[in-house]
Amino acid sequence: MEVTDRGARFILEQLEQQGYEASAVGGCVRDLLRGEDPHDWDITTSARPEEVLKVFAGEQVLTTGLRHGTAAVLLDGNPYEVTTYRADGTYTDGRRPDAVVFVSALEEDLARRDFTVNAMALDRHGVLHDPFGGQADLQHKVLRCVGEPERRFREDGLRLMRALRFAATLKFSIHPDTARALHTCRDMLTHVAGERIQAELFRLLPGPGAGAVLRAFPDVLAVFWPELAPLPGFDQRSPWHCYDLWEHTVRAVENVPPTIPLRLAALLHDVGKPACFSVDESGTGHFYGHPAVSARLADEMLRRLHTSNALREEVVSLVERHHWDLPPTEAVVRRRLRQLGPEGFSALLALQRADLHGQAGDIAAPRLAELDRTEALARDILAQRPCLSLKELALSGKDVLALGVSPGPAVGEILKALLDRVAEGELPNTREALLPAARELAKEFGYPL
Ligand code: ATP
Ligand code: MG
Repeated sequence: MEVTDRGARFILEQLEQQGYEASAVGGCVRDLLRGEDPHDWDITTSARPEEVLKVFAGEQVLTTGLRHGTAAVLLDGNPYEVTTYRADGTYTDGRRPDAVVFVSALEEDLARRDFTVNAMALDRHGVLHDPFGGQADLQHKVLRCVGEPERRFREDGLRLMRALRFAATLKFSIHPDTARALHTCRDMLTHVAGERIQAELFRLLPGPGAGAVLRAFPDVLAVFWPELAPLPGFDQRSPWHCYDLWEHTVRAVENVPPTIPLRLAALLHDVGKPACFSVDESGTGHFYGHPAVSARLADEMLRRLHTSNALREEVVSLVERHHWDLPPTEAVVRRRLRQLGPEGFSALLALQRADLHGQAGDIAAPRLAELDRTEALARDILAQRPCLSLKELALSGKDVLALGVSPGPAVGEILKALLDRVAEGELPNTREALLPAARELAKEFGYPL
């Protein structure tokens, strides 16, 4: 196996020519061995930072990471991070090493890395340096800490989220010792900033192994999202549900398309259920009002991770609407298409389907079939290029004014009422139909013409 990237080869050559050791390291080696194209190349070298700057004096180099031993060499606009062999000194805050110590041996540098599959280096001559059995773990699809898992997680709390993220994106199992340490050290996540948790969670959730990770580590996620803590083992006591609340939630996540808004909406859609739980005299569980409670909690949970407003609002509204009735009737589908837009409508359908996939099969099947009919109907309606916004309405504000309506809120109110009728199929979107209707509406609303 070799370093396939031209820029990376160039950097390795330059460093070796000046008498230093250098190899590609970390994610790029892992991805090469998995037969994937690395998305970026990191280089590790025996050269000290000032020596690296000298070797690449002819190139553009970003020096913001120099204190930690990293220089980013820009080749054709792509940054290559070149980092001096280092060992991380002691960690007192569980976030960053107190000091960075440069060391002389590659193996020491590999020893500070988080997981065995991330602790391999490949030099220019195709020699793989793999002192911790990374290649074997890669073959067996196992994620395992380098060294003693508990110590490694206590050094740096972010590694917990990285472990879950790699297990989800690579679809790897987590080695039992590493898994045990994830549970024992979970409180280390209290030291990690919301933004960094968000970044890892947003890579975890779309991963093909996300379901397995969620199933196994709800206690870890509950450190920053304690709202999840009551879900595992929660018996819904309902004929609709054959799974406990967490298993239902995980199945919903697995059954939505792997986009961040949908995966988050699936993860949070029932988080308000425990607070809304009641049992009737027949012993059946109910969760009246839970979509609104889930939406409120989802809003707080996402704020805690500092997600963007747009994403938070999108997720919260999906959660809030996840029980909306979407029968396959023209009037309802047209109204919802107008309210949600074609993408919002299809996202809500996807969420409802996933929700049903997490329920008792015999009860869910007819409802899934109904959603198929709703979707087919929406497709037919959209194919007729319906009028869903004021922009597309065949009548404009000017036309309404020309009828003699005086300028002011009246114009907007009339147009909006016309749009509702057109969107719901009561009126065709033509001037001939809309002009008399506008006149009628003006009278109805009490605006003198
Ligand atoms: P990807 O780029 O696909 O996210 P990666 O493995 O390259 O995966 P990076 O965050 O780019 O991950 O880090 C590069 C390498 O640095 C890792 O492969 C690992 O060897 C090391 N590393 C990164 N973060 C940590 C950490 N918190 N603790 C220990 N080693 C780490
Ligand atoms: Mg990387």
